[in-house]
Amino acid sequence: MSDLQERIEAITARGDSLPREGPDPVNEPMIRHWAEAIGDANPRWRPGPDCEAPPAMAQVWTMPGLNAERPPGEPLWDTMVALDEAGYTSVLGTNCDQTYARALRPGERPRISSRLESVVGPKATAVGEGYFVTTRNSWFVGPTDAPEEVATMTFRVLKFIPGTGRPTVDRTEVVRPLVNRDSAFFWEGTAAHELRIQTCNVCGELRHPPGPVCPSCHAMERGHVVASGRGRVHSHLVHHAPAVPGKELPLTLALVELEEGVRMVGAVSDGVEIGDPVEVWFDRIDDDLTLAQWRPLGAPAQDAPQEVASDLPVWELAITPTLVVSTALATRDFQDVHHDRDLAQSRGSEDIFLNILTTTGLVQRYVTDWAGPRTQVLSCALRLGAAAHPYDTLRFTGVIVSETDGVTTIDVTGRVSRGTHVDARLEVRLP
Ligand code: ZN
Repeated sequence: MSDLQERIEAITARGDSLPREGPDPVNEPMIRHWAEAIGDANPRWRPGPDCEAPPAMAQVWTMPGLNAERPPGEPLWDTMVALDEAGYTSVLGTNCDQTYARALRPGERPRISSRLESVVGPKATAVGEGYFVTTRNSWFVGPTDAPEEVATMTFRVLKFIPGTGRPTVDRTEVVRPLVNRDSAFFWEGTAAHELRIQTCNVCGELRHPPGPVCPSCHAMERGHVVASGRGRVHSHLVHHAPAVPGKELPLTLALVELEEGVRMVGAVSDGVEIGDPVEVWFDRIDDDLTLAQWRPLGAPAQDAPQEVASDLPVWELAITPTLVVSTALATRDFQDVHHDRDLAQSRGSEDIFLNILTTTGLVQRYVTDWAGPRTQVLSCALRLGAAAHPYDTLRFTGVIVSETDGVTTIDVTGRVSRGTHVDARLEVRLP
């Protein structure tokens, strides 16, 4: 057995850690800073005799702090150290499932107990080879001989070797077509989402690729028609190597026979067979280039912006450096990737990014802003995807899944330009 495995098994075998108190009791100033940074105006968080701590702050109270010494015996920390020493030095939160028994109030001093649930890996992921580390955490208040569990959290992080992920493809590096007098109409067509075929104005023959002279009658008068955009796969190949600028491999290329009778080469969704009906779609690379690509007839559209059904009003939040940094500090998360761009970039990230405690707070703010300040959040399970970087926009939508015994289940999705930042499921009790 490897040294790493041995250490992980030893940590797992220890079970629940001794409860550890956070550095401060629940207090109004920290709640106010959190509400300001998250932008959550819920009156329940306001200072005063009825002040409550937002449920999304559960983890904040026991965050270790900027220069805090890690208490010995903390399973997550010990696992991180073991993986660091094995070369898995970068970390990314991936899942956070919390339940809340009741709201905490100023003066209470929650303590956390946690155990290592599982370490799964090594696995090849988009960011690099890594291990998924899952811990189970509980927060307690009250006397040690009669503790009251106020919140729980299953927390999963990916601990990975930076620089071992799949290389990111810059689509704009794609090989550019030669645009000339004969072919300009074709590329103007793709930009306008039209598949254009050259015609001979004398004998009417269609031809592709375009050229100056009609191969049938040798006339030079030429025009074009707009094709239906449907055809069949005449033949195809899968390109595995060498690398193609701007393209992810493997890349399937097809010779498509159009309904109009001419054939055209283009990239096609993988898995097609000869004879399959396909249709064109238009992949806009940038202002200068839109490519005609192919997909199985009737497949979901990649090129049309997908309008997502939302029961809750759509909320668009501009991500600024100030938002990322102020929320990281207000949640007592001092990981450098959330406030120091140079260090974030040296760890392979394009910029600083929102931390998981902030995403938890924003998701809950979104739901309670809509459902009303008296809404009680019972649980919040979230899965993180694409990082939310400054200068992007985080767009929240929400769908009501069910209402049973007074508990409403709501799915919230937050999207950024690169894809889904967060998928969350909340259980709430509406006022
Ligand atoms: Zn002709």
